[in-house]
Amino acid sequence: MTPISSPLPLIQSLYLRYGQEAYGEGVTQLAHAYQAAQLARQAGYPPAVVVAAFLHDVGHLYAQDQPHEDMAEFGVMSHDRIGADWLRQLGFPKPVPELVEGHVQAKRYLTWAEPGYFDALSAASQATLGYQGGPMDEEEASAFREQPWFNLSLKMRHWDDEAKVENQQVPSLEDIWDMVEAVWASGQA
Ligand code: FE
Ligand code: FE
Repeated sequence: MTPISSPLPLIQSLYLRYGQEAYGEGVTQLAHAYQAAQLARQAGYPPAVVVAAFLHDVGHLYAQDQPHEDMAEFGVMSHDRIGADWLRQLGFPKPVPELVEGHVQAKRYLTWAEPGYFDALSAASQATLGYQGGPMDEEEASAFREQPWFNLSLKMRHWDDEAKVENQQVPSLEDIWDMVEAVWASGQA
């Protein structure tokens, strides 16, 4: 069942309370979210994709208020699925939950498919790969390639990896919250 009222205050409250956590990266979660969203927007993607980029790690934040398991100091176990499930529950339309869920699968895929990808990852992303199932094997990789959001998930992953620039002023995305709400509203029948 989808809630009737906007989930915006809930989501904002998470970023307000936990957005300054960095989970082993050189950027805060809020800066990381803004940078990822900015990259999606600069690449010309529609609001749903920009919002997915903004919310891709929301599972780390949402889980803080739930019983959860940590990956040492690197945030929450299964944050991809936790975030995706929550956004789905809130009524966010496709492909938002799918892309949120895909960002870790894309990392597992790319570490299998692209020599050198692992070495280019941030130290925290390297450290968490083991918790996330390690590189895909051939079978998992071909199943992932069949997913409708495969290409977009790889794009999301690259924005995620690039969105870790330290001391970069958070780009001004004043309308990001309006976008989050509009994308959510577009999923309500
Ligand atoms: Fe993540
Ligand atoms: Fe991320």
